[in-house]
Amino acid sequence: MGKSFVRFLGSGDAFGSGGRLQTCIYADLGASRLLIDCGGSAMVSIKRWRIDPATIDAILITHLHGDHFAGIPFFILDAQLVTKRIRPLLIAGPPGVESRVKAAMELLFPGSSQIRRNFEVTFVELVENQAMVIDSLTITAYPVVHASGSTPFALRVECGGKIVSYSGDTEWTDSLIQAAKGADLFVSEAYFYDKQVKNHLSYKTLLERKKELTCRRLMMTHMSDDMLGRLEQLEIDYAEDGKCVFI
Ligand SMILES: [Zn+2]
Ligand SMILES: [Zn+2]
Repeated sequence: MGKSFVRFLGSGDAFGSGGRLQTCIYADLGASRLLIDCGGSAMVSIKRWRIDPATIDAILITHLHGDHFAGIPFFILDAQLVTKRIRPLLIAGPPGVESRVKAAMELLFPGSSQIRRNFEVTFVELVENQAMVIDSLTITAYPVVHASGSTPFALRVECGGKIVSYSGDTEWTDSLIQAAKGADLFVSEAYFYDKQVKNHLSYKTLLERKKELTCRRLMMTHMSDDMLGRLEQLEIDYAEDGKCVFI
C-alpha cells in the first residue's frame, strides 16, 4: 500500500493475438487510480485481476479505436447496474470523445446514454501539447500518427511526483520523445518486429530510437503475432496481461 504501481490489465492488440486482452492499463498513483485506455475487453480484465471498478477515478483515452475505448459503455453500465457507483467519473480523451462514447453506447445498448445515473460522468477533451491539471492529475497529450477519426495522442500522466506515459498506437514520431521525457515508466506500442507500416511502430525502430527516450523504464505492449513469436529475442521489456510494475 502507498506505493504507486501500474498493472497491465490488457496488453494485446485489436485482434486478440496470443489470447491477450485489449489495451487497458491500470495505474494506482496514490492520490488517483485510473485506467489508461479501456479496450473492449476492459471489464473482463478489471474483474479478472480483482480491481474494484468503483475505486477508479478516471479513464484516459489515447485514441478513439475500439480496442482502446470500446470498454467504456460496459464500464458505465457496470457502474450503474452492478457496482452502484456514486463517485464521479472523469473520462478524458481526444476531441469528440464524448460524442463517440455516447454513439457507441447507443449502438450497443439503445437508450443507455440518456439514462439518469447516481454518479456524474465528466468528459474532458484533451488539447495537444497542453498540460491539463484535473484534481491530482496533470495530463499532457502529445499528437501522434495513427488514423482514428480524431487526433490520436501519446499521454503523459503525472500524479504525486510519479510519471507514467503511454504512446497509444502510432508510427514513430518525435513527440514520443516528449511523452517519455523523465517518465518513471514509458509504455510504447511495438506492433511488428521489423516490418515498417503506417500507423504502427516496429520493435527495430523503437530499439534504434531507445537512446532518445529519457524514461527510467521502457516497456512494450500491443504486440502482434509477429512479435509474440519472438519474445525470447527481444531486448526491451514487454507487458503481459496481469503484469504489475512498481514505479
Ligand atoms: Zn488504434
Ligand atoms: Zn490498438
